[in-house]
Amino acid sequence: MPGTIRPSPEDPIRNEHLRLRIEGFGVGTWDLDLTTQKLEWSDTAKSLFGIARDQPVTYGLFLSLLEPVDRERTEHAIRRVTETGNFDVSFKIGGSTGSGHWIRARGGLVRDDAGVPRHVSGIVLDIDEEKQLEDALRTRESHLRSILDTAPDAMIVINGYGIVQFFSTAAERMFGYAEQEAIGTNVSELMPMPDRARHDGYLARYRTTGERHIIGIGRIVTGKRRDGTTFPMHLSIGEMQSNGVPYFTGFVRDLTEHQQTQARLHELQSELVHISRLTAMGEMASALAHELNQPLAAIGNYMKGSRRLLADSADPNAPKIESAMDRAAEQALRAGQIIRRLRDFVSRGESEKRVESLSKLIEEAGALGLAGAREQNIQLRFNLNPEFDLVLVDRVQIQQVLVNLFRNALEAMAQSPRRELNVSNAGDAGDMIEVAVSDTGSGFHDDVKSNLFQTFFTTKETGMGVGLSISRSIIEAHGGRMWAETNASGGATFRFTLPVAAGES
Ligand code: ADP
Repeated sequence: MPGTIRPSPEDPIRNEHLRLRIEGFGVGTWDLDLTTQKLEWSDTAKSLFGIARDQPVTYGLFLSLLEPVDRERTEHAIRRVTETGNFDVSFKIGGSTGSGHWIRARGGLVRDDAGVPRHVSGIVLDIDEEKQLEDALRTRESHLRSILDTAPDAMIVINGYGIVQFFSTAAERMFGYAEQEAIGTNVSELMPMPDRARHDGYLARYRTTGERHIIGIGRIVTGKRRDGTTFPMHLSIGEMQSNGVPYFTGFVRDLTEHQQTQARLHELQSELVHISRLTAMGEMASALAHELNQPLAAIGNYMKGSRRLLADSADPNAPKIESAMDRAAEQALRAGQIIRRLRDFVSRGESEKRVESLSKLIEEAGALGLAGAREQNIQLRFNLNPEFDLVLVDRVQIQQVLVNLFRNALEAMAQSPRRELNVSNAGDAGDMIEVAVSDTGSGFHDDVKSNLFQTFFTTKETGMGVGLSISRSIIEAHGGRMWAETNASGGATFRFTLPVAAGES
C-alpha cells in the first residue's frame, strides 16, 4: 500500500538519532493514534504551533488552532488517510490574531503486524517563506497579466520549435484566435505564405547558425488573421533561455491604422501640393502682370505715337504698316489681359467653403507641417478653445496657410536654444476667429517685417518667397486679415482671422 510505513523496532536508538537530527533542522514530528485519537508532538512541532513544551497536546487542541476552513480540510484528510495512506495538508496558524504563518503537515499511515491501521505519523515544517514567495509570484504574475491584458501591442511567446506557449489578450483581438486555441499550435499559422511555409526553416537555421535576422531588430511583416485576411504589422522579437531551453517573445503592433493615417496624410499632402502650385502660379501671374503692365503699356504708347507719325507719310505701304501697328497694340493689350485673366482664374480657384473644425484643421496641418519637429526637440502646444472652433473655410487652402506657417516657424527655430511652437485661437470682436502661431525663433528685423508678405520676398538661400503672400491672399479671399508681430520671446507671431461658422452645420 503506498505511503504505508511500518515501525522498525529492530533499531530504536538509530531511529531516535535520526529523529533528533531532523528536529534540529526545524522539522517537527508527530504521531496520532487512530484508535484513541491521542496526539503526540515533538518539541519542535510544539514550537512551530506556538505551544509551550510542557503543555499537553490533544487532537482537539490541534484542531482548535486551525481556522474553520483548514480545520475541515484537515479532519477530512485524517479520515481519509486509511484509504490513501497519505496525509499532506498546509494551513495557516495564528491567522486571526497576528499575521500568522504557514505550516505544512505530512504523514503516513502506520499499520500493526496484522496490517490494521493504527497511527498516522509524520512531520510538520514551516513553509512561510515558500508561501510568501508563492504569493509574491502570484502577485507579480497578476500584475504582468493585467499589463498584458491592457497593452495594445500583442505578445506571443513561442518555444524553439515555433509552438505557441503564450498568447496575450491583444493577440486574441488582433488575430481572432482565443488563447486556448492558439497555445500549442505552430506560430506559422499566423503568417501568410510564403513565410508560413518557411518559418520552421528560419528557426532551424537560427538554431544551427545563431545568425540573427529579426531578433532584436524588428521589422514590418504581414500577419494573417483567423478569417484569412492579412494586415501589416511591426514585429520585434526577444529571446530568452529558461533552464537552457530557448523561447522567443514576439511583440506585434498592428499597423493598419497607422498606414491608413499615413495614406490620409499622403492624400492631404498631395492636395496641398496641388493647390500650392496653383496658388503659386496665380501669385506669379499676378506679379508678372504687375511687372509686365508697364512695358506693355509703354509698347502701346510707342505704337500709338508711331502710328500718329505715320499718318502724314506718303509711303504706299503706310496703310499696311498702320494696320500692323494697330494689331501689335491690340496684342500688347491682349497680353496684359491674358495674364490678368489667368491670375483671376487661378486666384478664384475652385475654392470650396465648408464648415470645418479649426482644431481638426490645425491637427492635420500639424501632422504634415511638423513632421520631424519632435526630433528637432521642438515643444508643441496647441491651446485651442473649443468655443471658437467652427469656421467657414476651404479646408485645403487654410491647411496650406497653416503648413506654411509651421514650416517657417520650424526653420526660424533651427538655431534657437529654446524651441516652442504655440498655436492658439480666440474670438474676435466681430464674427471672426483669430488664430495665432507663435514661435521662439529668430524673429525679424523691422525692414524684413514690412516686406514679409511681398511676393518673392525671402531671406532664405533656397526660399521662394511666395508662402506668406499666398497665405495672405487666401486669408483675404476668406474675408479675413493676416499680419505678423514680434513676440515677447523675440520670435515671430503670425495671426490671421477666419469667418465663424456659428449656427451652421
Ligand atoms: P520663404 O519661406 O520661401 O522664404 P515665405 O513667404 O514663407 O517664403 O517667407 C518670407 C520670409 O519671411 C522668410 O524668408 C523669412 O525671412 C520671413 N519669415 C517667415 N516666417 C518667419 C518666422 N516664423 N520667423 C522669422 N522670419 C520669418
